Amino acid sequence: MQTPIFDNRFRTLPGEHGDPVASRQVWNALWSEARPTRMPAPTLLAASSSVAGALGWSADDVATPTFAEVLAGNVLLPGMQPWASNYGGHQFGAWAGQLGDGRAISLGEVIGVDGSRHELQLKGAGLTPYSRRGDGRAVLRSSLREFVCSEAMHALGVPTTRALSLVATGEGVLRDMLYNGRTAHEPGAIVCRVAPSFLRFGHFELPSARGDFALLRTLWDFMVERDFAGLADQPDRDIAVFHAICERTALMIAHWMRIGFVHGVMNTDNFSVLGLTLDYGPFGWMEEYNPDWTPNTTDARERRYRFGEQPNVAHWNLSCLAGALSSIIEDHDGLREGLRRYVRYFNLEHTRMNQAKLGLLSWRSEDADLLQRLYRQLHASRLDFTLFFRQLMHVDVRDLQVADLASASYDAAEFEREATALQEWLQGWASRVRTDTADEPNAVIASKQAMRLSNPCYLPRNWLLQQAIQSAEQQDLAPLHHLLRVLQRPYDEQADASAFAQRRPEWANDLPGCTVLSCSS
Ligand code: AMP
Ligand code: MG
Repeated sequence: MQTPIFDNRFRTLPGEHGDPVASRQVWNALWSEARPTRMPAPTLLAASSSVAGALGWSADDVATPTFAEVLAGNVLLPGMQPWASNYGGHQFGAWAGQLGDGRAISLGEVIGVDGSRHELQLKGAGLTPYSRRGDGRAVLRSSLREFVCSEAMHALGVPTTRALSLVATGEGVLRDMLYNGRTAHEPGAIVCRVAPSFLRFGHFELPSARGDFALLRTLWDFMVERDFAGLADQPDRDIAVFHAICERTALMIAHWMRIGFVHGVMNTDNFSVLGLTLDYGPFGWMEEYNPDWTPNTTDARERRYRFGEQPNVAHWNLSCLAGALSSIIEDHDGLREGLRRYVRYFNLEHTRMNQAKLGLLSWRSEDADLLQRLYRQLHASRLDFTLFFRQLMHVDVRDLQVADLASASYDAAEFEREATALQEWLQGWASRVRTDTADEPNAVIASKQAMRLSNPCYLPRNWLLQQAIQSAEQQDLAPLHHLLRVLQRPYDEQADASAFAQRRPEWANDLPGCTVLSCSS
């Protein structure tokens, strides 16, 4: 197996070389020495050939037994220097103090084949100084979800951390999956995730909350130079970088709203400064259109992180970051302008994406009303958000058949009752599409093309993931690999994948993990 070139820049920051597994508060340091726990029997369950290729690993490298040993943390390649990073965060609106990488261990920063930087981080590789009362482990079901969803999000065109590998550890991990006091051993697994930077908003909030402004300044300057090199020479570089973070966050959230993704735990420690979707936990997909929906049972009462609230939460998170930075960046107006820029940029991107979802070649002021009426109709007709938009693409604007959409509804009786209202909406939409340009046939073709690229056919819906998990737990990896293959091309209808492009089946309604799930992972 080839050894890539490592350049562990993060280790040049102030760090700490104490006991690698003893939980503690870590002061004046941005990382701690860590050591992956030896796992009894690493087995590779899945790998991303595109991520491996970017790091310089061939299919033969991935197939060697050493690969699974390395990606379980049992073998360190020359250049790997494991560490866990120190961060804090606001969890569900309250300041939580020091959190840190409690079960994530970075192995190093690889300079990839195209010269770009890729930090490799094992999730579930054992205790670190930040594990608090946790065990540093991850179970197969949560690791499989993270592996599949991060690769699916990438294929969907959504900014995200990537996943290189999914390795079963051969170790049993004790969990109380339903938080009902019934603990059980579950199979353990480790994901190796990959990103140019795993810096979170919480990395900046912690030194700020502790009044360690020198450390905060050191980390900020480091991030500007490593992760925002293109802006490092700007005269107002600190503000330019904060504005870039706001814009990247806006773009990420607009994409989540486009595809019905609900992150589930939008705490500031789960927010990447690069605007990458990070930390896949109890995420889910809004199937039946309902902006109040959240997949996270731990948030079922308050619904702080519900689908429709995600744009506001991201703004709140950015204001926490701005607050942390306000002690080292004097231009507070510039920081406030960043928050306003987030709102403008989100609205711009959200509108642009909705325009494409509806197949409109331009956006007119009255289209906002068309969209609002559609949302109300989706709710009333109990339609699946994703299937509706995908099927809208197949609707003939000259010959509207409302019955074609029936298979996307979760309630046949409601769909029937609402059929006339839905027909009226479709008529309004069809005449709008036809008048987009004077050249009607071409307008319709261009409209369908825009819709095809904005409305996915396949998503890693929770019940699909759950089927792949149950099979993988019985050593049958075929459903996992089939799902991964289909999700590589989420906008292309595929012959052997019709079962994946369906509304949630009834058997999945009340089964744990199939629609909603807890934070237990
Ligand atoms: P999360 O809710 O997964 O974003 O985790 C929040 C914090 O808890 C982070 O600091 C994690 O590292 C830590 N954490 C979560 N699960 C574990 C675990 N099993 N062992 C140790 N730390 C954990
Ligand atoms: Mg987290």
